[in-house]
Amino acid sequence: MKHQPFENWILDDDLELSQEQVSALKKHLEDCSYCQELDKNWQAATMLLVTRPILSPSSGFSLRWQDQFVAKRLLQQKKQVRKTFLFVFLGIFTTSILLMLYLALTADLAHTLVTLTKGIINLSFSFIKVAQVVKPFLNSLPTVIPVSAWMFLTTTFVTLTFAWFVAVWQFAFKGVYNQ
Ligand SMILES: [Zn+2]
Repeated sequence: MKHQPFENWILDDDLELSQEQVSALKKHLEDCSYCQELDKNWQAATMLLVTRPILSPSSGFSLRWQDQFVAKRLLQQKKQVRKTFLFVFLGIFTTSILLMLYLALTADLAHTLVTLTKGIINLSFSFIKVAQVVKPFLNSLPTVIPVSAWMFLTTTFVTLTFAWFVAVWQFAFKGVYNQ
């Protein structure tokens, strides 16, 4: 089958085809699988050439936008971490002072706290394999360590636990980059 001039008509986009030429090409395409294939591939290639320059800058733009977004998120995460550290520090500081004052005024509570701390520590270590080694040492501790040291340990433990809970709550429910 003769494919000219149809091949040229298909491939040359600048060509202005007359009404007769268009219908002749249409008719040829119905019968000729070779030109059908050529037409299909050429249209696909043209589509690719047309869409490429549009897609490239837009994907570049979205990448830049993503970079900015990531940078912003990292900054917010840093702020969040700094805030958490500040909160933990202030929490320990203020709670320590308040508890020390309170314990100094109520000796009974101090005694209770020491007993409680001993219980908590004994319980914690019983879950660890080294408990057998540490327990005798722990049991001898209260007589050696003064009450004020126990107060400080208790305060730190309670504050850290509280701060940990708040931090987990913040990260879990409010999201990392919430202000
Ligand atoms: Zn043909």
